[in-house]
This record gives sequence, C-alpha cells and structure tokens, in this order.
Amino acid sequence: MSRSVLISGGNRGIGLAIAQAFAAVGDRVAITYRSGTPPEGFLAVPCDVTDTKSVEAAFDTVEREQGTVEVMVANAGTTRDGLVLAMDDDDFLDVVDTNLMGAFRMARRAVGGMLEQRWGRLLFVSSAVAAMGGAGQANYAASKAGLVGFARSLAWELGSRGITSNVVAPGPVETDMSAAVDPARLDWVLRASPLGRMGAPEDVASVVRFLAGDEARFVTGAVVPVSGGFAMGA
Ligand code: NDP
Repeated sequence: MSRSVLISGGNRGIGLAIAQAFAAVGDRVAITYRSGTPPEGFLAVPCDVTDTKSVEAAFDTVEREQGTVEVMVANAGTTRDGLVLAMDDDDFLDVVDTNLMGAFRMARRAVGGMLEQRWGRLLFVSSAVAAMGGAGQANYAASKAGLVGFARSLAWELGSRGITSNVVAPGPVETDMSAAVDPARLDWVLRASPLGRMGAPEDVASVVRFLAGDEARFVTGAVVPVSGGFAMGA
C-alpha cells in the first residue's frame, strides 16, 4: 500500500537515499530542500527546519498534494565543529536549532494527521556520536543525543494510537557532511569500526525503510545503529 512520506533534507546525501528507498517500493515521497534545483522524481517543497512557519507551509503543501503525512523522517542536519573552549553561543544554538528543534518542529506538525489516522511512523536520524560523544562535536553530539530522549517521549505519548517513533544512529557515511570531517578523525573512526569502512547513504536508507514498514510494527523507542560497528555498546 502506497504511503505518504516526507523527508527533511531529502535533496542530497542520506536524505536523498531515504527518498529513493521509499519511492522504490511505490510510496508517495516528498522531500524538503532549501535552495538550488531539487532532484527529480519527488514532490519537492522548500523548507528551512529552523523556521516554524516554513515547516508548517511545507506540510500544508505535502498534505494537499499527496495526502496526510504517514511517514515522517527528520533527517536534516548540520555541523559547526570546534572545541568547547572556542565555541560561541551561535555555534551551539545553530546546531541544536537545526538538528533537535528542527526535528521537534517536523514531528509536532506531523503528529496531528497521524493521530487522526491512528497510524504513523516517526523516524529520526541521529548519530553514533550521540552515545560516544566526540572531541570537537559537543554541540552536534548534544543535539543528536537530545533526539533520543525526544523520540522516546513520543513513543510513550503516541504508542496507544498506532504511532511508532524510532531513531537510527549512523556511523561514518559517505556524504558532503563526512567529506568535511578532519581526515585524521575519520581515520580514527574507521580504525575503531569492525567493518573498517565508510557506509553508503543507501545503508542507512534501507534501515529507515524497514523501521517504517509493517515488519517493524512492534518496534518503538528503539535506537538502531547503522555504523559498521563504530560505537557499538556505547
Ligand atoms: P549532508 O550535509 O549531505 O545533507 C544535509 C541535509 O540537511 C541537506 O539536505 C541540507 O539541505 C539539510 N539541511 C541542513 N540544514 C537544514 C535546515 N536548516 N533546514 C532544512 N534542511 C537543512 O549530510 P548527510 O546526508 O550526511 O546527513 C543527513 C543526516 O544524517 C544528518 O542529520 C546528519 O547529522 C546525519 N548523520 C550523518 C552522518 C555521516 O557520516 N554523513 C553520520 C551520522 C549522522 P541543503 O542542501 O539545503 O543544505
């Protein structure tokens, strides 16, 4: 059965792979983008997740064009790496505003329609760094760890209404974001990974699609690592 899916930051990287994974099984897929030309094949809606009105307008369009959002993937994310000693308020706030508040804005808007339908799938893209922490990534790790408490609270609030809320925690994945990471740190991460290599965006996408599917209907409040073993047990 075709579902109405919305993915924030679906124009590139992991978000685009998630969009392609849902489209491949016949779902109606909308993606958000901020600028430039979005990829073809999806309903593309402009949206900045740091702006509540922008998020609400994006949902309005998606609901009009492809129906109530049944699967919401909060994927949009950003980094502003630096050591805490030299990190200013904006470096911290901007990352939390995008990664954590952005997911909150998306989920809050998604939940109304899901409650009406008494069915929904909320998915949050966190990071292995949420549990491990990372030198130079205190703001990012805090935002991604915050997603876990947020998603689990939603699992409690919405479980009785047929809505699940789950988190995926990727390790190093080949995208623009990881290309900007200090090569020495990336090298350390790969040496600390049993599989010893970067993942592909598709590796994350297939797990997100599984969690949104009927086979995962008894899974909620889970944090699923997709990390090549990096940070396992953390
Ligand atoms: P990219 O940098 O390739 O893509 C980031 C996406 O987020 C883009 O679509 C970008 O849109 C969007 N975005 C950023 N800020 C905003 C905003 N304010 N409003 C709306 N959209 C925004 O990163 P990845 O694909 O690698 O990352 C996707 C998710 O996966 C992120 O949450 C990231 O933290 C997480 N992750 C990534 C890992 C990796 O190794 N790559 C590892 C662990 C987690 P635009 O094109 O407009 O900039």
